[in-house]
Amino acid sequence: MGQLTDWLAAHAEQLDASNDLAESVLPVLAGAQVLAAGVPQEHGGAGGDVRDAIAAIANVAEQSVTAAFVFWGQRCFIEFMLQSPNRALAERRLPGLLAGTHAGASGLSNAMKFLSGIEQLQISGARQSDGLLVDGSLAWVTNLRKGGFAAAAAVAPTDGAPPVIVAFDSHAPGVQRNDDLDLIALRGSNTASVRLTQVAIASADIISDNAPVWLPQVRPAFLGMQCGLSIGLARASLARAEAISVGSRNQLTPRVAALQTALEQAVDTLLSGVHDGRFQSQAPAMFRLRIQLAELVQQALMLELQAMGGRAYLSAEQQGFARRWRESSFIPIVTPSLTQLQSALAQFDAAKAAAAA
Ligand SMILES: Cc1cc2nc3c(=O)[nH]c(=O)nc-3n(C[C@H](O)[C@H](O)[C@H](O)COP(=O)(O)OP(=O)(O)OC[C@H]3O[C@@H](n4cnc5c(N)ncnc54)[C@H](O)[C@@H]3O)c2cc1C
Repeated sequence: MGQLTDWLAAHAEQLDASNDLAESVLPVLAGAQVLAAGVPQEHGGAGGDVRDAIAAIANVAEQSVTAAFVFWGQRCFIEFMLQSPNRALAERRLPGLLAGTHAGASGLSNAMKFLSGIEQLQISGARQSDGLLVDGSLAWVTNLRKGGFAAAAAVAPTDGAPPVIVAFDSHAPGVQRNDDLDLIALRGSNTASVRLTQVAIASADIISDNAPVWLPQVRPAFLGMQCGLSIGLARASLARAEAISVGSRNQLTPRVAALQTALEQAVDTLLSGVHDGRFQSQAPAMFRLRIQLAELVQQALMLELQAMGGRAYLSAEQQGFARRWRESSFIPIVTPSLTQLQSALAQFDAAKAAAAA
C-alpha cells in the first residue's frame, strides 16, 4: 500500500490531465493487492466482504479519483463474477482479474437506468445455438485497457425474454473500442465508447440470464463501491481544509469538524447497510445515502476552497485543489446520477402516499 500511496501522490495530477499513464493504473493497483480486498479467500481474494472493497476504493480516491474509478470498474466486474450463478465463468475469469492481468469493466449504467425505467437497453441479441449474437453500443465505459479488456453489459434478447447480463472480450470479432473520450478530467481512466457488431456471446459468458432479478441483488455493492469515490474525495478535501484552518483566522474549524463527523456517520450507515443486506430490499435508504455523500463532497470542496482563499486560484499554491474540484464534478453525474435518484425517490414517496391513502 505504501508504494501505491507514493505512486498516486506522484502521479495524481497526470492521471487526471492526460492518458499517458492509463495503462499503468491497473497493474499498480494489482501490485498493491488492493483488487483482492473484500474477495473471499476461496476465490483467491484477501477475505472480508464488500465493506473492505469500499474502504480500499475510498483510500485510493483520497489521492486520485481517476485511479479509484478504474479500481471501481475492475472491482465491479470482479463482484459480478462473485455474484454470478455461472460459476464456471467466475472460476475462469477471476484469477486474471484479481492479478490485474485482465481488465474488467462495468458497462452497466445503461442497465441501471433501464432498471429504473428511464432508458431502453442499447444492445440487443438474437438467440443462436449457443448464446446470443449481439448488436449495439455503450456510450461510456471506463477501464477499457488498450492492451485488452472484458466488459459487462445488458442485452435485450430479440425473442422478448428477460434481459441478460453478458461479458464480452475486446478481442472478439465485432468489438470496436473507440478512442479515449476527450474528457475534462479523469483522462487516465481508459474511458471510451464501444460498438458491438454481430458479436457472438457464448452461454459460457452469460453472467445472469435474468437481469431484472440479478441487478437489484448486485446494486448495493455496485453503488456502495461507487460511494467510495465520494468518501475518499470528501475526506481528502476536509483534511486539507482542516490543516489550513488550524491556527488560522478563517474560523472554519468547527464547520470542518462538523462535516467530518457527518461524513463518518454516513460512512458507518453505508457500511452497516451494505453488510446486513438491508439495501437490497430498502433501495430508497441507499439512494438517500448516495445523495448525502455527493452533497458532502460539494460542501467539503467549498470548505477547502474557502480555507485556502486566493491561494486556491494560484497554480503553484493550490496543492491539488483544482484537480479535486474537477474530480468532484464527476460525482453527481455518474449513474445513478443525483437527478435520477431524486426522481426515483419521488416515485417511491408517491407510491407510498398512494398506498396509505
Ligand atoms: C468519466 C466518465 C466515466 C464513465 N464511466 C462509465 C462506466 O465505466 N460504465 C458505465 O456504464 N457508465 C460510465 N459512465 C456513464 C455515466 O455513469 C452516466 O451514465 C452518464 O454520464 C450519463 O449520461 P448522460 O448524463 O449523458 O445521460 P442523459 O440521459 O443525457 O442525461 C442528462 C442529465 O439528465 C439526467 N436524467 C436523464 N434521465 C433522467 C430521469 N428520468 N430522471 C432524472 N434525471 C434524468 C441525467 O442524470 C443527467 O444529469 C461514465 C461517465 C463519465 C463522465
